[in-house]
Amino acid sequence: MSPNVERITSHLGDVGGLPIQRALPSKARRAIGAWCFADHAGPATPERRMNVGPHPHTGLSTFSWMIEGEILHRDSLGSEQVLRAGEVNLMTAGYGIAHSEESLSDRIHLAQLWIALPDAERERAPSFQHFPELPRLSQGGFEATLLVGELAGLRSPVPSFTPLLGADLVATGPADAVLALDPGFEHGLMLLEGEIEAAPAGHDAVETITPGTLLYIGAGCEAVELRCSAAARLLLLGGEPWSQPPLLWWNFVGREPAEMQAWAQDWAREDGGRFGVVRGYDGPRIAVPSVPALRQP
Ligand code: MN
Repeated sequence: MSPNVERITSHLGDVGGLPIQRALPSKARRAIGAWCFADHAGPATPERRMNVGPHPHTGLSTFSWMIEGEILHRDSLGSEQVLRAGEVNLMTAGYGIAHSEESLSDRIHLAQLWIALPDAERERAPSFQHFPELPRLSQGGFEATLLVGELAGLRSPVPSFTPLLGADLVATGPADAVLALDPGFEHGLMLLEGEIEAAPAGHDAVETITPGTLLYIGAGCEAVELRCSAAARLLLLGGEPWSQPPLLWWNFVGREPAEMQAWAQDWAREDGGRFGVVRGYDGPRIAVPSVPALRQP
């Protein structure tokens, strides 16, 4: 059986003064499993440091993977955590949390992703977790860091509420590896640096991908061969397909526009409503965009 393979082009954006490439959501594809948002920043020395003032989240986990540089996270639970290269921050918003993020370094390279929470977990209490150590393995010239899920018999300590995979793969020179995939998952290859040739099992073409392109591989694929002739880095994302992708609006993941409207009104309150207050951040909160946009999520 040949899997459905799609090339998805990132669009450019800006997060707190930091230029980013956004792979998900796109018009062509809203999510890969529960991965419903995927930003890539750097590697670069931007003109301005990233400075994202307090803003709310609901119904998702934010997942930050730092490749180069440092950012400071603060949230309304009172967490204050510097995220350094090789580390993951996982903030599960549940019914609501607010946070701020500031870069502490000039040079920066990171991936910021959102994981949609399933119905049974989206009203849970918020939490924040920091993971300074993640499992690593070598395969065919690639060094892999297992960010979430299972790969080659290893399991990441980063929890998820739906079956999920996230791995960072880096090669410092020529490399060639065949990775076994869970055929029950859909997958994405998100290029961060260099150039990769990807050959999904059962697909009749070899796909060359560079930064700004995400290669989507539909469920039913059992392996992918990855080749590069020079240094390269990519993220392998995967998860069980959702029958109905979640609704995204601003910083919220939900099911109905009406509930998002209520969250927006909560954030407009002085005490931040269900989201609370981020202490220690020197600057204003980010205001909710005008409500008419809510009618067209
Ligand atoms: Mn955020």
